[in-house]
Amino acid sequence: MKGITVLGSTGSIGVSTLDVIARHPDRYRVVALTANSNVDDLYQQSLQFHPAYAVMADEQSAHDLACRLQSVAPDIQVLSGIDGLEHVSRLPEVDYVMAAIVGAAGLLPALSAVHAGKRLLLANKEALVVSGQLFMDEAEQHGAEILPIDSEHNAIFQCMPAGYAKGFAGVGVRRILLTASGGPFRQTAAEDLVQVTPEQACAHPNWSMGRKISVDSATMMNKGLEVIEACWLFHTQPDRIKVVLHPQSVIHSMVEYTDGSVLAQMGNPDMRTPIAHALAWPERIASGVSSLDLFEIARLDFEAPDYQRFPCLSLAYQAIEQGGTAPAILNAANEIAVAAFLDRRIGFTAIPKIIEYTLSLIPAIATHSLDELLNVDVQARIVAEQQTSMLV
Ligand code: NAD
Ligand code: MG
Repeated sequence: MKGITVLGSTGSIGVSTLDVIARHPDRYRVVALTANSNVDDLYQQSLQFHPAYAVMADEQSAHDLACRLQSVAPDIQVLSGIDGLEHVSRLPEVDYVMAAIVGAAGLLPALSAVHAGKRLLLANKEALVVSGQLFMDEAEQHGAEILPIDSEHNAIFQCMPAGYAKGFAGVGVRRILLTASGGPFRQTAAEDLVQVTPEQACAHPNWSMGRKISVDSATMMNKGLEVIEACWLFHTQPDRIKVVLHPQSVIHSMVEYTDGSVLAQMGNPDMRTPIAHALAWPERIASGVSSLDLFEIARLDFEAPDYQRFPCLSLAYQAIEQGGTAPAILNAANEIAVAAFLDRRIGFTAIPKIIEYTLSLIPAIATHSLDELLNVDVQARIVAEQQTSMLV
């Protein structure tokens, strides 16, 4: 029986994780559930899974949840804030931690799990984008096992040969083909992107996801963040990663070998597949995902990405090539710009402009210090926020 903490349990990935866990009560026990401020959902999940701990990032929400649980489940300990999140990520009775908080807010709890040597199921790509080198070094030092949840990275992991961490050449790998659906605006003309609304940006053709990652998919920053994530997870360079548009989202990514072989991982676009894979690895368990109907899909299409219409993808490549704190600056500026777009304070095409400006204003430095990375994150948010009032 494995004890599990689900960070961000009320979100899209969190709910899918609990769906898979509920199918295997003989294998997994929920030790802790966490959310930002959604008291109703964490209350319902607490009643269903009866964890030892329920954590709300927001203090007032924690107080409200504790009051509601008092009469029905007084043994559930309610904690709050970053301390609470870090605590439930390193508990001795926890074997696996699902990192499914959105944004850099998930970095410290995920690092706490890494320090405690847990198996980390990593959905929170921003954590790795902000602190890649540090995160991977700490994982190695503390024996933490990182299993990718992002569907592309999970697919790559499934297609990679053993020993890839020592370098692609030694194991006969030529490159990674990272697939992208292209998002809701794949065929939208550049001039029409100016007018698109948050509702249109969040209406992803193939995947149902949280609002931030949905906008990231629409700008293609999601793919940019994933290029950076893949560099760290698979110990490689950006020039070994090629982005391929594949609108059906059936092939979740591919690995090309030196002999010309290309291995692909396929399946219905449902996050329960990578979640079940990472939970059970190296075994396989049922996920609730239906069989892939190839006759219904009938065809698979591929296109090259358009870097002009989607400048976020180029900005992400530039940031990882620059290295140091550049990806952390990129991420922070993106989080601010996406939030401003969702609040209707800026237009869709202002998102890359804010990121580009923030990257140009803050010099990237080489560092492995967590404090410095967190400082840069704060600084970049301030610069980006100032830009939101100037650009619309
Ligand atoms: P979501 O918005 O649906 O859920 C986010 C979760 O994090 C919620 O439980 C929320 O309460 C919690 N949260 C938000 N802000 C917080 C804060 N400041 N402190 C503590 N908790 C906070 O997001 P999602 O779509 O589930 O995505 C989660 C992560 O997984 C993101 O990093 C995303 O990029 C990644 N991811 C998601 C998908 C997907 O299909 N949804 C696919 C691949 C990767
Ligand atoms: Mg993905």
